[in-house]
Amino acid sequence: MQRPTDLERRGTPRKPLHTTGAARHSSRVTAAFALPPYQPPADAAAVRAEVRAFLAANPPPADAVRRANCWSVADAGFSRALGAAGFIGMVWPRAYGGHERPAMARYVVLEELLAAGASVGAHWIADRQTGPLLLRYGSEAQRRKYLPGMAAGTLFACIGLSEPGAGSDLAAVRSRAEKVPGGWRINGQKLWTSGAHNAHAMLALLRSEAGSERQSGLSQFLIDLDTPGISVRPVIDLVGNHDFNEVFFDDVLVGEDALVGVEGEGWRQVTAELALERSGPERYLSSQALLVAVIDAARVAKADNAALNAVIGKLVAELWTLRQMSMATAAMLADGADPVVEAAIVKDLGNDYEQRVPMMVQAVLDIDLDGSTELARVLAHLLQVSPSFSLRGGTREVLRGIIARGLGLR
Ligand SMILES: Cc1cc2nc3c(=O)[nH]c(=O)nc-3n(C[C@H](O)[C@H](O)[C@H](O)COP(=O)(O)OP(=O)(O)OC[C@H]3O[C@@H](n4cnc5c(N)ncnc54)[C@H](O)[C@@H]3O)c2cc1C
Repeated sequence: MQRPTDLERRGTPRKPLHTTGAARHSSRVTAAFALPPYQPPADAAAVRAEVRAFLAANPPPADAVRRANCWSVADAGFSRALGAAGFIGMVWPRAYGGHERPAMARYVVLEELLAAGASVGAHWIADRQTGPLLLRYGSEAQRRKYLPGMAAGTLFACIGLSEPGAGSDLAAVRSRAEKVPGGWRINGQKLWTSGAHNAHAMLALLRSEAGSERQSGLSQFLIDLDTPGISVRPVIDLVGNHDFNEVFFDDVLVGEDALVGVEGEGWRQVTAELALERSGPERYLSSQALLVAVIDAARVAKADNAALNAVIGKLVAELWTLRQMSMATAAMLADGADPVVEAAIVKDLGNDYEQRVPMMVQAVLDIDLDGSTELARVLAHLLQVSPSFSLRGGTREVLRGIIARGLGLR
């Protein structure tokens, strides 16, 4: 698919980070990754106004705890309204229900939704990765079947990668798809599947070649979750929320058309999918509701709390830097590149930031975590859930392994 190139539009030449060649690894590093400065296009302000008007008419939850880490919060009605307003599948072709808007308009919409704490969890996976993956690798029939509903905010997807024994080590996936006349028979189990209980389809990584080992013989399948033989069971997390599920496949029969892309190419395809998953604004904005609450509280109190002011200053400066890095990666994705290392860097630094926000706020404010103020409740919630930020979408250690390999250090 030919997509608009933002690099042309933005007019900022891509520059390597290292130009002197002085450091021992500098030439390899230059080749390995680049995060060029990015200037949002001039019409970004108009897009921002557009989405803010939508949010004024469709306000995020009044409860600040629901606004924190909001891309885990599902609201099918909100997703439907967002789809109807043209804010899902924004860059996809019109032929599939999309809106053919520039990638950076989508970026602006995402950051506005996340900063406001909108409940975007229901459609998030379909918009962020399943839809784009279908545009890249899916058949025409798959695109026509799934993309219009995804863009309308009425057809939701989930990610079927992790299994018992295969989380970080996806090459150890054992759930299998066996070729049978007219299609595939699927058996196995997926674990930690966020939102499977709300989703209509799962993009699953399965072992499709009997006897194959590790990366070879894996394929991707898009499976309708109402197919007989599939059971979705809740896994309640330590906070008491139902986000996760385990999904069992028991002699599930799907057609040949469930295979996505090329049989046996699942590993290569899933790597590209993970780049879509790792570099967006959700990777540094999960604690944004707390940062906003703390700035509001400082403004109201007008207290001369030097330690708090310093924390706010540091966090805002970091936020700005992360945003620049994330936008640069988004621009590369829009150009059809596979910025695997850049995406891993954004996710690792972004997760580190969004995990530190609650800890740094707690360190400078004397807050009773059992208190009923908005600030206390959001802080208590984020202190509990933020350890998961660096697990979901690839753990910290795994990302650093990818970065080290990308830099030629391993
Ligand atoms: C909030 C949340 C949502 C999630 N949603 C989904 C989802 O929708 N779909 C899905 O498929 N999965 C999902 N996951 C699963 C997540 O991606 C896995 O938890 C992750 O891949 C880790 O796998 P694991 O739990 O099996 O841990 P393991 O892979 O067993 O890892 C345990 C520890 O060992 C470390 N480790 C593992 N391998 C290495 C290595 N090679 N080098 C150094 N250290 C290593 C890890 O960093 C980790 O600290 C979600 C997880 C969370 C927390």
